[in-house]
Amino acid sequence: MIKQKTSGQIIIISGTTCAGKGTVVQELIKRNDNLKLSISYTSREKRDGEIKGKDYYFVTSDEFEKKIENNDFLEYAKVQYGKYYGTPKKEVNDLLKQGYDVILEIDVQGAQQIKEMFPETILIFIMAPSMSEVKRRIKARGKESNQQIIERFKVAYNELNEIPKYNYVVVNDEVEKAVQKIEAILLSEKCRVDRIEEISVENQEEIIHEFLMDKDFDNTPFVLEEN
Ligand code: 5GP
Repeated sequence: MIKQKTSGQIIIISGTTCAGKGTVVQELIKRNDNLKLSISYTSREKRDGEIKGKDYYFVTSDEFEKKIENNDFLEYAKVQYGKYYGTPKKEVNDLLKQGYDVILEIDVQGAQQIKEMFPETILIFIMAPSMSEVKRRIKARGKESNQQIIERFKVAYNELNEIPKYNYVVVNDEVEKAVQKIEAILLSEKCRVDRIEEISVENQEEIIHEFLMDKDFDNTPFVLEEN
């Protein structure tokens, strides 16, 4: 009766540093076959434990700039320490055409560029329960210099001002709960009236006729109730 759009939707997940976006996104992908994660390109160095083609496609700044010239990105931005990050256009478009919903784990600048191109994009902001918790998590990670830690912390603070540009905010105090909240958001979004392409209903006359022909149907003539 209701035909909904078959093309997939873009879901943007942004959030403050150490909000646990990565873990939440991995869990969402694991549990939902219809969800795919877009792998970004970046000119930043690979960190220990990161895998090429799984976490990012690592390229040099020159290679990244060639891709910009070729119009290979849906969006790109210089995010941290002047390093480029970008979403590959072809991969995302192909997945959407196949009907997959695609998660982009990108920053606030990229989120705005995508929203302008695809107004139906669902924008979700993930937050740590508090900034003191962010501080604790950054220190516990212990991979960066003091200067980098302070920079990261400042960026996290500034990003909080961008929350009004998002559709949903999810506090990640517990991964399981955060994942459930996002699944609920995605389910509700599927039911939006503007996702309907066509509504078709069976012919009213035919159904009434079928009622009247049904031998079990009480065929007492209708009496109009008087007020
Ligand atoms: P990290 O270097 O810690 O992996 O990521 C730094 C920031 O870059 C994160 O906020 C992440 O969301 C953002 N980011 C990752 N990929 C992209 C991308 O393709 N485009 C944009 N605009 N931001 C990205």
